[in-house]
Amino acid sequence: MSGARRCTATIDPGPAAATPARAADPGRSRDVKVIIAGAGVGGLTAALALARAGAEVEVCEQSPALRDAGGGLQITPNGARVLHALGLEEMLDEIGIRSEGVLARDGLRGRTLFHMPIGGDIPYRFVHRSRLTQGLAEAAEAAGAEIRFDRGVRHLLPDGGVELQSGATVAADLAVGAQGIHSLARMELNGETAPVFTRNVAWRAVLPGPSVPRSQIWLLPGRHVVSYPLGPELTNLVAVREQAAWVGEGWHHRDAPGALQGAFADASDDLQRIFARVEEVHLWGLFRHDVAQVWRRGRSVILGDAAHPMLPFLSQGANMAIEDGWALADEVGRGEDIEAALVRFQARRQPRAAAVVAASRGQAGLYHLRGLPRAGAHIALRASGSLTPRLMRRRVSWIYDHDETAARG
Ligand SMILES: Cc1cc2nc3c(=O)[nH]c(=O)nc-3n(C[C@H](O)[C@H](O)[C@H](O)COP(=O)(O)OP(=O)(O)OC[C@H]3O[C@@H](n4cnc5c(N)ncnc54)[C@H](O)[C@@H]3O)c2cc1C
Repeated sequence: MSGARRCTATIDPGPAAATPARAADPGRSRDVKVIIAGAGVGGLTAALALARAGAEVEVCEQSPALRDAGGGLQITPNGARVLHALGLEEMLDEIGIRSEGVLARDGLRGRTLFHMPIGGDIPYRFVHRSRLTQGLAEAAEAAGAEIRFDRGVRHLLPDGGVELQSGATVAADLAVGAQGIHSLARMELNGETAPVFTRNVAWRAVLPGPSVPRSQIWLLPGRHVVSYPLGPELTNLVAVREQAAWVGEGWHHRDAPGALQGAFADASDDLQRIFARVEEVHLWGLFRHDVAQVWRRGRSVILGDAAHPMLPFLSQGANMAIEDGWALADEVGRGEDIEAALVRFQARRQPRAAAVVAASRGQAGLYHLRGLPRAGAHIALRASGSLTPRLMRRRVSWIYDHDETAARG
């Protein structure tokens, strides 16, 4: 198989899409075989988009089933725009709750600082992560992709094939590393780079009981808390605190609810009532990674957290992985050789991913103000009335208003 194998189709949004389908060319649509390592949000979006573009897609997931990582994801309009273009608007409406906006509050006194309505024609939704990956997997399979479990990938090969953890190799025209934050492929392409502990840890929990249909963010000195609904009787909670002691980077470290409650013992009454509902909580350390310099070698490429892990302060990791999935299929589907498509893919996605990574890093400092700067900022936020929400919306418009389906590398 040569680097000049072609995938001639443009992305077909599928039967459920509102926009007219651009049909794959049936005569040539099976020209390209793609293996994707990782059935997370990025890998599955890429699988769906590539299958719709006419490629033969196999997803290799190391786990025995789709991972139920628990918890929620905020799918902002930029991510939703891609999922709608892939025909998943109805699925998102079924599994998600539309956000009415962001409510910022003083986490010590409970006072409202500002409310930012989301507006716009593309909804901002809260979804259960596992329901989203399930929906993506079903759509990818319906488009012809095959998802195989217990099939870890050890190496992406520059000729587009992969070496499995079993030692077997599988030939293909394009290998995609979508293995998330601990991606081996990123290390192979970029060498081992040590992530830097940000001196922030985060607790996450899903609580029984309702929540208002918006994200609420409470600001406290050196800490912040975000909550949003995941269903009529389910609330997602993430609480972040600065602390010097190191905690491992991973989503599965259990902690005691009392540790979370103790860290926020001075919080406002409404926040205390929410913490009192916590039955099970996980703690993870927040690490800063650099965006990978090298995303591709030959006909292998990385995307999503594998290429650009980011801090969760702007809720963009999954949204960026979704944008990547579309962009990869779009470039591969342009009908030129695959290596050239991967060059364009990196050029198209790396600057935006780097900008979002940088913006996410800056966000914690703004949330965690102390002393006089905190008091001054809160007075200004409350005094500026409708100006603050407008300014806040403008600050994120370059993220939310971006339309990857209209972009080209
Ligand atoms: C608590 C929390 C809240 C978050 N909230 C948001 C949010 O609101 N909005 C948002 O956009 N982002 C959010 N994020 C970030 C988001 O979850 C990630 O950025 C996103 O999941 C990245 O997708 P991915 O497909 O790149 O990787 P992942 O979702 O991590 O998927 C990687 C997959 O690859 C598999 N895998 C790993 N190694 C191999 C291998 N060698 N072979 C085969 N398979 C392999 C894994 O088992 C996994 O299934 C949050 C993250 C956390 C921790």
